[in-house]
Amino acid sequence: METQFDTLQKETILQAPQPPEIHQIWQCLHQIADPELPALSITDLGMIRSVSPFQRDGQQNGWQIVFTPTYSGCPATEFLINEIRTTLAQAGLKPVHIVVSLSPAWTTDWLNADARQRLRESGIAPPLSQSSACEKPAELDFIECPRCGSHHTEQISEFGSTACKALYRCKQCLEPFDYFKCI
Ligand SMILES: [Zn+2]
Repeated sequence: METQFDTLQKETILQAPQPPEIHQIWQCLHQIADPELPALSITDLGMIRSVSPFQRDGQQNGWQIVFTPTYSGCPATEFLINEIRTTLAQAGLKPVHIVVSLSPAWTTDWLNADARQRLRESGIAPPLSQSSACEKPAELDFIECPRCGSHHTEQISEFGSTACKALYRCKQCLEPFDYFKCI
């Protein structure tokens, strides 16, 4: 039987306020831009899966950050891990334990509407909203030009300025643009 004390304790755990540092850490991480997509931060991209106090031997000892790189093997991964450490250390938030989580694998579905809009504003066509659509080659003919919004576009090269982008050209405004490939 559950006593009043048990209930109270349970409520205390459920309602335990998050340490203020958690919010501060999210804010710091939001300042870190992706080197290949400078319009977006690593939080916009959904690369930070969680931030929590790190416990060791029942004592809190710094912070744990679960990080999922956009493309495993993307050269930016090492760079970003260093950026996270440096940025948080400068804010006095340490030690930081970074756990690289590859499962579930990152997908462009994790980009929110705001991030997609900012990509468009920076001249990059955002990935199709459902990565499953990308498996159908026909869909690739409908990439929207980020400049004029035309769907009369064609792929010029499978690789754009970086491996995660493809190079397209708009048949309407004749401008080339990068398309952020979905995965
Ligand atoms: Zn266009």
